[in-house]
This record gives sequence, structure tokens and C-alpha cells, in this order.
Amino acid sequence: MGEREISGVEEMRYKAVIMHNRRFTSTVRTGLVALLFAACPLVGVAQAAAGAVETGRVDPRIAEALKQVSAERVQQTIEKLVSFGNRSTISPQDEASVKAGKGVAAAHDWIKSEFERYSKECGGCLEVKTDAFIEQPQDRIKTPTQITNVYAVLRGSDPAQSNRIVLVTGHYDSRNSDTFNGTDPAPGANDDGSGTAVSLECARVLSKYKFPATIIFLTVAGEEQGLNGSKHFSAMAKQQGWKIEAVLNNDIVGGDRSPEQDASVVRVFSEGLPNAATDAEVKRIRGLGGESDSSSRELARYIADVGRTYDAGVKPLLIFRLDRFLRGGDHLSFNRQGFAAVRFTEFREDYNHQHQDIRTENGIEYGDLPKFVNYDYIAHVAALNGATLASLASAPAPPANVKMQTKNLENDTTLAWEASPGASVYEVVYRATSAPDWEHVQTVTSGTRATLKVSKDNVIFAVRAVDAAGHRSLPVVPEPER
Ligand SMILES: [Zn+2]
Repeated sequence: MGEREISGVEEMRYKAVIMHNRRFTSTVRTGLVALLFAACPLVGVAQAAAGAVETGRVDPRIAEALKQVSAERVQQTIEKLVSFGNRSTISPQDEASVKAGKGVAAAHDWIKSEFERYSKECGGCLEVKTDAFIEQPQDRIKTPTQITNVYAVLRGSDPAQSNRIVLVTGHYDSRNSDTFNGTDPAPGANDDGSGTAVSLECARVLSKYKFPATIIFLTVAGEEQGLNGSKHFSAMAKQQGWKIEAVLNNDIVGGDRSPEQDASVVRVFSEGLPNAATDAEVKRIRGLGGESDSSSRELARYIADVGRTYDAGVKPLLIFRLDRFLRGGDHLSFNRQGFAAVRFTEFREDYNHQHQDIRTENGIEYGDLPKFVNYDYIAHVAALNGATLASLASAPAPPANVKMQTKNLENDTTLAWEASPGASVYEVVYRATSAPDWEHVQTVTSGTRATLKVSKDNVIFAVRAVDAAGHRSLPVVPEPER
């Protein structure tokens, strides 16, 4: 690095990139383990030595889908969104504005028509819906205001799996320097035209395929006024008992073309202590040393795994923090309802290009304009999102009721769980308590129980289900069983 010091963030980035570039070559060892199992058919409980975790198996269908993600389509979407002038939640929603193609209502009408167009192309495979409600006056909303979330549902093809949901979202509302200005231009090409484009592009590409579990492509409004759209949607999902396994929130994924941008990575933020945890749950997490194992954090690690398996053109850089310093976004609404949710954001934001009136001052151009975003980068982020959604929607459900036996003090660790429909094998993954990501894996080829010669005091364990094609579920950290 020569004459300049590496900053903390950069150091993290380099470590992450090094991690991503690691290729594990323990195929021989895995083969030996398999042989061992084959030789001892009576041993239902896995006791063989674990190997290093390996990169996942590529599903050719998913790899093919990723190739169809188009930077040109992303560009068309963002330019169209910008054409609505000001997409603030408090921009005029009257008929004349909609007819003139201006304001937030014109924007959501267009997003809806776009989802409907994709659906037509796949023989009506998408259910296109809106979640509209009137928000009462509050901090950043002065009069009762209609907020409309628009979404498309790609229903799972397996009736036994279709109640499982994975979801991608971005916010289509925008703002300029003044939160209460609903008329002057607020292009929002990056914030969050980029995230809206990711959700739309995932819908366009993935709707050409069928997946056992359900995928929802969501776009919300009200983010800039106080996360209102996502708050309403996530509360509805909770109230209706939706089984959402993962929420991918894309907000500011435009890859602003500032000189210090790193277009090879996208940050993935995940909460540590769950926002939905009660005091008793926080106490339990503290007792178990589970501060870095929220369901959102496991989702982030899953995205890292997907990033090693598929070449999306951009690598996830995990940031173990809810969001950027003292800031928030729509994933927080889902976290508060107890759902696993993470945020994707470009590596380096340019604050001259977000929440700014369009103007030039002292030679500096301000404003969230299309010319500052990188369409190829957004397409890469869409591909990473698409690969994650497709992998999760193809995988068996995560194992339920994962338990760790703690009746006796012992140095071995015994785990047990319920069978997951469609699972071919299970994998116990574990890592040192100080390690950021899974390091070791032990495959359990029969039964739903495993004893490992590894002390629960020294590592963190989780169990995932894997189908015959190699699709991995989200890993589940065990609960102690006394
Ligand atoms: Zn935003």
C-alpha cells in the first residue's frame, strides 16, 4: 500500500475481497467423508471430521438467468423514473399531474404497468398488486396523504413450498434538498431509482422461470418521509402471517461515478442484535454469545456465499451494522416486524448527489442525476440480488426446531432438528466465535442429528438443508435444549 495508510473501512474491504477470493479445495476430504458414510450405513449420526466450507454448486438455470440482466433495461427504468420530475410522497397526486406524467402517483402507475407488462410476457405468471393507504399528518407529512406500495408476486410452483416468501425491494419516492418540496425536480436516479430498477429487473428476468417458493418484487413509497411505505407493508405481512424468509432492500445502489468509488463491491448491511428482540430475548442472546447471529446476519452470510458461487460482476462486502452510521432504511421496518432483512448500498456515497436540489455552486454539480450513476454496476447488483432470490426460492426450507443438547457438560456437541421437505442432506456449519463467516462444514447424509467432536464453547454452529441439486437453505443457529 506504499505511502498511505489503509483506513479501517478499506482494510475491511480488502479482507472481504480476500475472503471472497479464497477457493477451498477439500474435495478429496469430502469424498473420504462420503466413503466413510457409505462404509458405515448403520451410523446415522455423523461423527466424521468436518471439512472446510466450499463454494456452492452452480445451478445452470440461475447462471443463465443472470446473463439476461440488462444494463440497458436498468437505464430505461431509471430514465423513466426521473421523467416524473418529483416523486416525493407529498408531490401532487391529482388527475392532471398523473396525466402530465408528473409526481409520485404517475410513477406508481407506471411501475404497476411495467410489472403487468412482464406478467403478460410470461403468460400472466405475476400477480400485480398495490398496498395503498392514507397516512395521517406527522413529522414529514403535513396533510393526510395516500401512499401506494406496488408489488408483483411470482407464486411458488410447489404447493408445499409456496407459502415461503423471499422479497426484494427498493423505494421509488425521491426528494430534493427540502423534504417538504413536492414540486421542484427531485430526480432520485440513485436514491432510489437504482433500487427500484433492481426490483423491476429481478421481476423481468426471474418471471421467466419457476421456483418452488414464492418471490415478491416490491417497490415502496414514503421512505424519505419516515419509512412509511415499508412500515405499512411489513406490518401487513406480519399481521397476515406471511412467512418471509429474506428481505433484500436496495437503496442507493447506483455506483456513483465519483473517483473513489469501488464498483467491484456492494455493501450489505445487517443488524446484529435484532430490532424485534424483547428484553428477555436480548438477555438470552447475551447468554449464548449470539450477538452476531441474527437471522439478518445469517442472510448476509448467505449473500456472501451466493457471491462466491455466481459471478454477478460485483462482490458483497458484509458490514456488520444495521445501516450506515446513524442512518436507516426500509429493511429496518421489516427487522422491526421480526423478518430477516438486509440493505444493499454502493461502496461510497457522494453526498453532493443525494437529497440535493439540482444546481452548480463553486464549480460543483449537485443533484441526483442519471449521469452520475453506473448502469452496469446496477445491473451487477441486480444479478447478485437475482441469484440470492433464485437460490433461496429453489432451496428447501431452513431446518425447523434446531436444538443443541446441553443436559450434560461435555466437550462433544450434539445437534438435532426436524426434517425439511425436499432436503437431500443437511450441513452443520461452524466457525470460530471471532470469525465473520462459516469456516467448516460437516455433511449429515442420513437422519436429522449429528454429534461433532467440537466444543460448543469455542465455536458457533448452524444447520442448513441442501437439496439434491445443491441448493442451500438459510442456516439456522440452534437453541439450547436442557
Ligand atoms: Zn433512499
